Amino acid sequence: MRMKIAGGCGEHGRNCFYIETSKYAFLVDCGLMAGEAGGGYPHLTEAEIKRLDYVFLTHSHADHTGALPWITANGFDGSIVASEETLNQLPFPVNNAMTLEQYQAGNHPISMEYGRSGHCVGSVWYQFECEGKTLFFSGDYVEKNYVHEIDLIREKQADIAVVDCAYGNDKTSFDSYCTELVKYVRKAKTEYRTLLFPVPKYGRGLELYWLLKKRFPKWTFSGDAHFIKQVISAQESKWIKKDVVLSGDISLFSEEHPTDVVFASDPQLRKAEAQEIAEKVLEHGYAIMTGTVESGTMSARLLEEGKMSMLRFPVHLNYPQFRNVAMNNSFKQIIIYHSPEFDCEKEIIK
Ligand SMILES: [Zn+2]
Ligand SMILES: [Zn+2]
Repeated sequence: MRMKIAGGCGEHGRNCFYIETSKYAFLVDCGLMAGEAGGGYPHLTEAEIKRLDYVFLTHSHADHTGALPWITANGFDGSIVASEETLNQLPFPVNNAMTLEQYQAGNHPISMEYGRSGHCVGSVWYQFECEGKTLFFSGDYVEKNYVHEIDLIREKQADIAVVDCAYGNDKTSFDSYCTELVKYVRKAKTEYRTLLFPVPKYGRGLELYWLLKKRFPKWTFSGDAHFIKQVISAQESKWIKKDVVLSGDISLFSEEHPTDVVFASDPQLRKAEAQEIAEKVLEHGYAIMTGTVESGTMSARLLEEGKMSMLRFPVHLNYPQFRNVAMNNSFKQIIIYHSPEFDCEKEIIK
């Protein structure tokens, strides 16, 4: 068995792992490197793309799925396997899609198990058995959060495990991040009428909404149409913790009825709708970014102009949390992914 790291190690983005045996080949994730010249595609040859029988997706974020149209244009004609929610969240059409349940019910050469990774609705970790070897992929994973259900990775055995450590050597705990953020938000609110949170379409926004709603019960909240839709659809699903009630008191953003907090489902503020919301809010408000800012975007400009601050809300592991996963499982070889701070060999033969 040969595993080739086609992206995602020694960098933040382009997550893509190619596995090849004498009988079949598959990918785990197929992401893009945002903002890279040449498209930021995974390091895959045309022959490798054509050999692929399956692509397993851990979740819908572009750093895990954005290169799917590119592999399709380059001759990929295999199946795309993911949770139903992940498939529905993809912003482009895909051929030969298969849900996790459909895959498990079918007759396939690679045996696969999965669990919820707590990162967003539809996000999973995977364990594969292929040619006598066990491969484990954490996907984007957390051990602690408020909203998304987590099937903790415990007592797994694998020959190779690829594990999230996107926050590198940062040692801040989940609770300290949240405490810092709440402290900052409270102070900012004494100076500004409205606070704007640009968030990804899926995942972090729901966690933030829940945290702020709990800490500031008297505050009012609004979001763009996508955010409201996300709140409603997430509520009914198995991906949300049972004691979490999200819907009820969030309204659609309107300039006439300003709320204390506004969510825009576009982290870099790239689209016109989010830019318009940002411009209106920032007349009397302030923006808070809670994840990676990409250069050349409106979010980057707001940060430069002092109209936005960056305070992390964690949706990945850092090194101490990664160590905890490593200690609680039996992994013969561990590959750290999603961080520029840790690199590794790009070819593994087992
Ligand atoms: Zn993600
Ligand atoms: Zn990611």
